[in-house]
Amino acid sequence: MDMIDLRSDTVTKPTPAMREAMAKADVGDDVYGEDPTVNQLQDIASELTGKEAALYVASGTMGNVAATLAHTRRGDEIICGLKSHIYRNEQGAMAALAGVQARPVEEEYDGTLDIQKIESAIQTSDDHHPITRVVAIENTHNICGGVPISPTYTEKLGELAVKHGLILHLDGARMFNAAAALGVSPKEIVGPSDSVSICLSKGLCAPVGSVLCGDTDFIDRARRARKVLGGGMRQAGVLASAGIIALTEMSGRLIDDHQNAKLLARLLGEVPGISLERNSASTNMVYFNLDAGVPNSGHEVSDSLRQEGVLLDLVGPSSFRAVTHYGIDSSMVEITVHALKQILSS
Ligand SMILES: *Cc1c(COP(=O)(O)O)cnc(C)c1O
Repeated sequence: MDMIDLRSDTVTKPTPAMREAMAKADVGDDVYGEDPTVNQLQDIASELTGKEAALYVASGTMGNVAATLAHTRRGDEIICGLKSHIYRNEQGAMAALAGVQARPVEEEYDGTLDIQKIESAIQTSDDHHPITRVVAIENTHNICGGVPISPTYTEKLGELAVKHGLILHLDGARMFNAAAALGVSPKEIVGPSDSVSICLSKGLCAPVGSVLCGDTDFIDRARRARKVLGGGMRQAGVLASAGIIALTEMSGRLIDDHQNAKLLARLLGEVPGISLERNSASTNMVYFNLDAGVPNSGHEVSDSLRQEGVLLDLVGPSSFRAVTHYGIDSSMVEITVHALKQILSS
């Protein structure tokens, strides 16, 4: 049975066009900077983001960690969201690998970090204190519901960063979803950010990889960091060729995923025993909970759904995340909600 896999947009497989491009890709040794396809991908990424340079990396985590290594010195501090990927989901890499500590600030409901709260978290120049070096945001913000963050906010944050001499990093794993949802260009989403990491292997369907973008000096340092992280790949053009299609051909259809997420949210809203989290379906994610009165545990619901051919991401004892993507159409959304309804009413 073909599963309806709503756990994540990372389950997307390369498209037929990607397979073809991968088979034909012109390649070279990228550690020498000689892979023409990787170079082309990097040129496209820097053009799209309005940055001087870009670097193809193995994963979003590698992009964020290489950026941290390139931006900071040991003992520095990074202001980031309490629910951000770099704080919660990277094994404490900023501490473990870069010797940097996090200064987490709790996100507002809309995924932003309050400007005042950031300002009061910035350390004063005193020999006791770490140096606040970076402020990092996430767009779309996954745990806050896949919510897109407006260019207006990012501009304001950029002004604050300039005022205090901070580096602004954007974890833009799903920034193309943000651009699609807000109807703005990728450049506007990046705004004044000094660096941005973008996943090619989520909604954009590439099998592997992310791109990190920023100015030339930064990318030179990030390339060194990538090497020590084990990310110096050789004929990586085989993979980058799919990344080129991800960046040039796949962002236009993300709006379909958002439509399907909206359909899912609307149908779930009609199911007794389920309540949606706020921000649901603002892009391609729907977070929802089983109400207190529901006798089934999250695990039970998850197992029953699996038997019906549906996979969801269980994110808490009775909380779920569903992510729409290239492999999901509206009929699958309907089947999912129908199955859920049956399980909760039996
Ligand atoms: C997925 C994700 C990453 C990391 O990407 P990997 O390729 O899984 O390492 C980073 N940040 C955010 C917000 C993500 O969703």
